[in-house]
Amino acid sequence: MEISRRALLGASVLAGAAGPGLMRAGQRGAKGPTRLEVSRKRLLLRHTWTISRNSSDFKDNVLVRLERDGIVGWGEAAPNVRYNQSAEQTIAAIEKAKSVIEAGDWLHYVDLREQWERAISNQSCACAALDIAILDWVGRKLNVPLYRLFGLDESKVPVTTFSIGIDTPDVIKEKVKEARDFPVLKIKVGTENDAQIVAAVREATNRPLRVDANEGWRDKEQALKKIQWLQKMGVELIEQPLPAAMIEETAWLKERVDIPIIADEAVKGVGDIPKLAGAYDGINIKLMKAGGIQEAMRMIHVARALGLKIMLGCMIESSVAIAAAAHISPLVDYADLDGNLLISNDPFTGVGVKNGKLILNDQPGLGVSERPGS
Ligand SMILES: [Mg+2]
Repeated sequence: MEISRRALLGASVLAGAAGPGLMRAGQRGAKGPTRLEVSRKRLLLRHTWTISRNSSDFKDNVLVRLERDGIVGWGEAAPNVRYNQSAEQTIAAIEKAKSVIEAGDWLHYVDLREQWERAISNQSCACAALDIAILDWVGRKLNVPLYRLFGLDESKVPVTTFSIGIDTPDVIKEKVKEARDFPVLKIKVGTENDAQIVAAVREATNRPLRVDANEGWRDKEQALKKIQWLQKMGVELIEQPLPAAMIEETAWLKERVDIPIIADEAVKGVGDIPKLAGAYDGINIKLMKAGGIQEAMRMIHVARALGLKIMLGCMIESSVAIAAAAHISPLVDYADLDGNLLISNDPFTGVGVKNGKLILNDQPGLGVSERPGS
């Protein structure tokens, strides 16, 4: 299945952005130097973050700063070991694309992407950082928020889940209390103590729960028993119960459970979606796996065409990448965009949260600003 990226993006841009006000806004900004700068930023986690695979107290992300005509656009990469990514490799990949990007016309971001993404292999998060930075710059240049550029209604941003990492029952209960403003929680499981974890959450709250096993269960019979138990505990969906490669086993599971099964590690880009349609009820799209906003939009349209539910998720990210996802979230069913809420030193401001719903402002581009002193 090949769907033209230009057709999909062109249609949404035309639907949302045409108008005389936009043309006038496009004139703003003095001429100035073109610069692409890349830097590493260590994000500190509020709590040690544990999932079925690993545990961490910080994440080293990569920021991209693009400047032209006196306007600055920001992008972010969150390298993830699951996909063989690191901050070093991400920075090296961005440097490879630098000359093409600095020479290109950023307003032609669809065409331009086809040129620069050839320079980057196997670091989808580097593509995401560049794509986000270019689109942030375009939004600022045209003086419109990205959701408006795409023709989307910011009031339709879905409620985001707040994630509770794997921990001892006492700490889990404490985390559930801290997440009191979020009407839906996402619980990480995939260890020997799953029943204890979910029971601890249930003791602390009767809110709806979504559960993510991060490929932590290794056989279909075990996964079936766990999901049947989770259904009784009021869990409304299960994410990636089995390893990504176990597509047939997941299809077997899907026939036997009553709650949606969502693919996460099994789906990176648009090409992965068709083969998953019979095994999963939905997919979790992340900008870092997809390689940015443009690719995520393609994935959303392809998943819809195949009748799949869509979750928009994140890694541990600052407000730059979270805002980028939030701007396209009116298109999806479920949001899991809490990465910036899990860190204590977000270097940017601009994404609010109220009653568990991300609030986008009316500032151009991503609508984020550097936090003074960070
Ligand atoms: Mg997941």
